[in-house]
Amino acid sequence: MINQIKGLHHITSLASNARENNAFFTQVLGLRRIKKTVNFDAPDVYHLYYGDEVGSAGTVMTYFPFPNASTGIPGVGEAGRTSMSIPTGSSQAWLDRLAGFDTRNLSQDSRFGQARVLLDGPDGDQFALVECDDERTPWTGSGVGEAMAVRGFHSIDMRLRDNAASEELLTFMGYEKQDIQGNISRFVVPDGNEANVIDLELLPEGPHAAQGAGSVHHVAFAVENRARQLEVREALLDTGYQVTPVIDRDYFYAIYFRTPGGILFEVSTHEPGFDRDEDTANLGEALKLPSQHEHLRAKLSGLLEPLT
Ligand code: ZN
Repeated sequence: MINQIKGLHHITSLASNARENNAFFTQVLGLRRIKKTVNFDAPDVYHLYYGDEVGSAGTVMTYFPFPNASTGIPGVGEAGRTSMSIPTGSSQAWLDRLAGFDTRNLSQDSRFGQARVLLDGPDGDQFALVECDDERTPWTGSGVGEAMAVRGFHSIDMRLRDNAASEELLTFMGYEKQDIQGNISRFVVPDGNEANVIDLELLPEGPHAAQGAGSVHHVAFAVENRARQLEVREALLDTGYQVTPVIDRDYFYAIYFRTPGGILFEVSTHEPGFDRDEDTANLGEALKLPSQHEHLRAKLSGLLEPLT
């Protein structure tokens, strides 16, 4: 068992329209866009990052908006609903706010005693806003006040036909099974950040997911620094996982491996952070390009649609 993983770092999903995606996260959910850059492997596609003021680990939702991508079909073998934390008692304010934006599939329920607001994003991406006592300072610069603002991630669901291997992996990663409710098993990493929950959703007869717009592409876990990351990489390799070399993603260092349930996991560092190439006050405003794509700036600036 390893103890370097602190909870979620970021979650990356797919979208079909950059402008709608940006509007949903900044204007509806009230997050801050903290980086406007491009996909390393497909530089004609944006990579948009949303989070708290500085993009703290455990708050960062990122998207690859592939123009006109077909919509994903939810199923097993993928990360499911993404849950964000909101202040206790703020569900009604969110229901009222989201109804005003004609939000799809808006409803409420409770899981493990925590009230949740359920909603879909522009591509049918499934989200929950989970009431909890969360000490994190929220971003409030996008028109959502402190009394209700999203604090960051709470958790993510993993939809599986069989839990056993994924339970083993999470346990290896330092998570502990905390509770079971129906077909949901809750795992929590002790001494982690506030985004320290993973829920496994057991769907033995579930159809397999087809990835597309609205699907989660991968789930990234946080480690403090590159030394801790190398320890995690060694431990995963020793356990038989195929892990990529360390990849420089400009704002963090990343390694990737696929879980037995078919979900792509990443382990990312806190360093160097999103302010490495622009001031905190102006995060997310200018188009930032990875150095190997800088020579494409003129072409990409013409290809990428304006976000507003
Ligand atoms: Zn990632």
